Amino acid sequence: MNISIDRLKKDIEELGQIGRDPNGGISRPSFSKADLDAREWLKERIQSAGLIYGQDGAGNIFGRIDAPGKAVMAGSHIDTVINGGMFDGSAGVLAALECLRRIKEEDIKLKKPLELASFTDEEGNLVGDFLGSRAFVGSLDRKTLEEGSTQFGPPLAEILEGTEFSIDSILDAHTQRPEVDTFLELHLEQGPVLETEEKPIGIVDCIAGKNYWLCCFLGSASHAGTTPFELRKDAFLGLSDFALKSTQYVAIHHYGSMVTVGKVAVHPGAFSIVPGRVDFSLDFRSTSKETLEEMERHLLSLARDTASTRGLEFQSKIVDKTDPVRIPAHIINLMKEECGTLEYPSMTLPSGAGHDAQILASIADVGMIFIPCEDGISHSPQEKIKWDDLEKGTNLLLHTLIRLAT
Ligand SMILES: [Zn+2]
Repeated sequence: MNISIDRLKKDIEELGQIGRDPNGGISRPSFSKADLDAREWLKERIQSAGLIYGQDGAGNIFGRIDAPGKAVMAGSHIDTVINGGMFDGSAGVLAALECLRRIKEEDIKLKKPLELASFTDEEGNLVGDFLGSRAFVGSLDRKTLEEGSTQFGPPLAEILEGTEFSIDSILDAHTQRPEVDTFLELHLEQGPVLETEEKPIGIVDCIAGKNYWLCCFLGSASHAGTTPFELRKDAFLGLSDFALKSTQYVAIHHYGSMVTVGKVAVHPGAFSIVPGRVDFSLDFRSTSKETLEEMERHLLSLARDTASTRGLEFQSKIVDKTDPVRIPAHIINLMKEECGTLEYPSMTLPSGAGHDAQILASIADVGMIFIPCEDGISHSPQEKIKWDDLEKGTNLLLHTLIRLAT
């Protein structure tokens, strides 16, 4: 028994028409017009597959085949980054839809309910990543929703106006949640490893935790022609020094973990002025909680030391934090066994990117299947997969779901 790749391809291509960006790619942030259209489309697909459609107060969408007991779930998200691709998230939701459709068609006897889940705002276009899955497990607080700024400007409450959702309904979502036994997510790798290793399947063994800070070096702006080097308080040089040293530190002491300064704003930002202030993002990740804590201590103290030797001030504010997640051995082994039966080459690998599965790990066992994406490119209109890889990944998902629910 296998999935139909033609039907899955058709679904992905249809959903990929919703939210087409005039600049190329797809822009479908949660609660935008495009997202609301995509939700309607998904609802119709779920119902015509004969699944029980459901939606909670956070706009998470479900499709269920009922049975007694705790649910075995599979899914991902259908929101995208601005100007993203058509596979990130959508592939996981629609692969799960295809699996449940096949199980329904074959009328397989279930010992546990099977449920498709599509989580709201995984991409964090609104107030931090994983809004929907965090609402689902009940780990959101009112302050974040009311005070967090969205990347579009207006606060979340205003973005929700005119929809059927509110901050209260989002905070309440977890009270309607079914008991979950296991959550499985198929996703693009969003990196180059599987393609380089020529493996169509990656079985994720852990998901990296992340610390995300907004930071600033404060110096003083002065004339670029008249201020001698030794009298400058150049905030940009402070950041340059810190960025190099922090990368060296992680590469030497915690190879495999990551640190990135991804967003920089130099002020006042002029040809003839020594930068007096530089704002920057600091993103560091590790698959070990201890390493993540050690990196936090070391990197912040390195930034303070860099500031003090250069006559600068260092300021920092934590924006988001997630813990690393280890995938339970019985899920990894089950997937390896199924790959063996299906004769699919596979490898285990960690996920450096965060996923809804990581959030679900606080209430259920989780597992993840990666498929390669061309040149490791994702969050881009250039995002591409091989249909053959998706077919294999979805067959693995299908057989793992059947093993867990029967
Ligand atoms: Zn995603």
